[in-house]
Amino acid sequence: MLPTLLDFDRDHIWHPYTSMINPLPVYEVVSAKGVRLTLKDGRTLIDGMSSWWAAIHGYNHPVLNKAVTDQLGRMAHVMFGGITHEPAVNLAALLVDLTPPLLSQVFLCDSGSVAVEVAMKMAVQYWHAAGKPDKKKFITVRNGYHGDTTGAMSVCDPDTGMHSLFKGFVPEQVFADAPRCGFHDTLTGEDTKSLERLMETNHDTLAALILEPVVQGAGGMRFYSPDYLKKARELCDIFGVLLIFDEIATGFGRTGKMFACEHAGVSPDILCVGKALTGGYMTLAATLTTVEVSHTISSGYPGAFMHGPTFMGNPLACSVACASIRLLLSSDWEKKVGRIENMLVEGLSPAKTFDHVADVRCLGAIGVIEMKKPVDMARIQKRFVEKGVWVRPFGKLVYVMPPFIMSDEDLETLTTALVDVVSE
Ligand SMILES: *Cc1c(COP(=O)(O)O)cnc(C)c1O
Repeated sequence: MLPTLLDFDRDHIWHPYTSMINPLPVYEVVSAKGVRLTLKDGRTLIDGMSSWWAAIHGYNHPVLNKAVTDQLGRMAHVMFGGITHEPAVNLAALLVDLTPPLLSQVFLCDSGSVAVEVAMKMAVQYWHAAGKPDKKKFITVRNGYHGDTTGAMSVCDPDTGMHSLFKGFVPEQVFADAPRCGFHDTLTGEDTKSLERLMETNHDTLAALILEPVVQGAGGMRFYSPDYLKKARELCDIFGVLLIFDEIATGFGRTGKMFACEHAGVSPDILCVGKALTGGYMTLAATLTTVEVSHTISSGYPGAFMHGPTFMGNPLACSVACASIRLLLSSDWEKKVGRIENMLVEGLSPAKTFDHVADVRCLGAIGVIEMKKPVDMARIQKRFVEKGVWVRPFGKLVYVMPPFIMSDEDLETLTTALVDVVSE
């Protein structure tokens, strides 16, 4: 007898961060439309996750579908070495336009982690070309998350990123204390003391400071003061360290600004975008930098930037990214995200009074309930599915970042389910 799909899956397929001996249950999804996922058994779930920050316009969107199928009729892919094409050029032009000033040089990557690797390699090559080859270490803050490839892992939080396990394999970087001041708090000297001290003592070997602006995502879903970014920019300028912003989670409107660094009015030297770039349709990311960085790299040894993936600038992904960005720009996204923020604040506030809840916080279209103890994943996930919503907690964090198109009614169902399940 043939194994069922779920049996085969359990015996043969790795899922993100799972055991092959004792995997958590998975749910089979057969289709998705708008904000709803349809399970094999016919049940539909309101999606609170946007497939990890990505599906900002919801699923199966006619405009995005058309962008993919139109491009498919022309060509799915062609190498980017020695060749260019309209989807890549159009996307680069949109990104240059949309991102903070001076970021005009675009490198197209296959995924967010690769965008971070590329950013780090740019910083190292920049200092090498600038005659300071010792500057190849990175400084960051604790509780960060920048991806799962080796370079990216090295700047993730050393505890949740399991640096002890990978010691000797993952390069050792410099870690400052995580920002403590909340999004609305006033920044004090105390908050940036550790960063300042470490930059002062290590700047001779530091290539760049890498930060997730304003929202630390998978490293703890923490929001911090935009003034921290102003101070970070100041310190980078004083000590001659490049500033990398990883906006892979926060970009494209999620925090209420197009990019989270706009809360601070601070521009980085290198910017990584991904996740919502294609509206969740396929994997694509980009690393943008300044002419100062790109021309310095290109004037040094070996006269080129040393990276070039096989699927660089994939036309299907670039086409849908262009369509997704245009769709976002033509929508009233600021109002939509503001409306979601208000509904999350109101809808999740009852959880504040629960004994086992440590904190409830919202910013833009992100809502977080932080528990005092880690949740029982299999059990809580099942309860959410029974309530008709898709929410995927991790550790102590039960959180949502819904598609921007979610209706008030669905948002209410989602927040009510969150509060009910957390109360159990
Ligand atoms: C998800 C994420 C990444 C990694 O992106 P992948 O596409 O999963 O490789 C990097 N940085 C941040 C801030 C992210 O949220």
